[in-house]
Amino acid sequence: MTADPILSVRDLKVRFSTEDGVVKAVDGLSFDLAKGRTLCIVGESGSGKSVSSLAILGLHNPEKTTVSGEIVFEGTELVGAKESRLQQLRGKRISMIFQDPLTSLSPYYTVGEQIAETYRKHTGATKKRAKQRAVEMLTKVGIPQPERRVDDYPHQFSGGMRQRAMIAIALCCDPDLLIADEPTTALDVTVQAQILDLLRELQSEFGTAIILITHDMGVVAQMAEDVLVMYAGRCVERGTVREVLKTPRHPYSWGLLSSIPHLAGDVDLPLVPVRGTPPSLIDVPPGCPFSPRCDFASRVPGELCTTERPALEPSDGHGSACHLSTSDKEFIFTDEIQQRLG
Ligand code: SF4
Repeated sequence: MTADPILSVRDLKVRFSTEDGVVKAVDGLSFDLAKGRTLCIVGESGSGKSVSSLAILGLHNPEKTTVSGEIVFEGTELVGAKESRLQQLRGKRISMIFQDPLTSLSPYYTVGEQIAETYRKHTGATKKRAKQRAVEMLTKVGIPQPERRVDDYPHQFSGGMRQRAMIAIALCCDPDLLIADEPTTALDVTVQAQILDLLRELQSEFGTAIILITHDMGVVAQMAEDVLVMYAGRCVERGTVREVLKTPRHPYSWGLLSSIPHLAGDVDLPLVPVRGTPPSLIDVPPGCPFSPRCDFASRVPGELCTTERPALEPSDGHGSACHLSTSDKEFIFTDEIQQRLG
């Protein structure tokens, strides 16, 4: 349990109705986030990372989506909250940055107008003050010549500058919580590093809590204080960044770490992708959803892996949802996986 969490999520379930059946996109997710901390939610596409963040913002289509559980943000329950209440929070207290700024920025308005509009909407500032704020924010996010570039349209910005502009919009009202969904995936590596540095700098200036959604363990290593690994809509491991990266306790986390390049250790060892594909969220396998892809299920006695859903244990601190014994989790990682990682 995190001390004085700004955000507390309990048993969050998100279901979509489709012609093929009900998609269990998020299936019992719980976590806490403290003020000023960064939580990275990591997992493959379709693991429920982005759906969870859209649920926090109340951005699902209510006709096709059922959201249950609790999402308490600074004492306010967001599940079932009125749209007018959510609109007050979105953009002001909770902001979001999406992966592709080109689709998030309007091509018809200047970058400055889009920052100023967000600022005016939530603060009631005058047009003059809002434009000043736009210039201030462009300066903060490192856009050169901000007084001139404030009147540029998004297509006049490079990809990295557009993402900086999105960050300026997201932070212009000084939110308490920023959700960044794969914010650097569309950028090249050097720009990616600059954007991550910028997020860290602004976080320390504004004291914002960040949920960073990513599939990239390199981004996790750079940014996270806490990590939550998702698979098939569930949390399979959570802990501090050191715990999850240095002593991971779940075979899926081992797979994620074995599939990325490492500078230490034997660099000639081939990368090992996680075999197979994630399950359909309409028809999730019984027991552990990772069992069809897991190389370690045979070490668990009986049919437990295919019949019984493992709980996230221990309930506090570094936890994993896996039937392997604690000593097996430590031994396998140390002996078989860590040698590979170096
Ligand atoms: Fe593998 Fe069984 Fe652990 Fe699931 S519960 S990750 S199948 S060992």
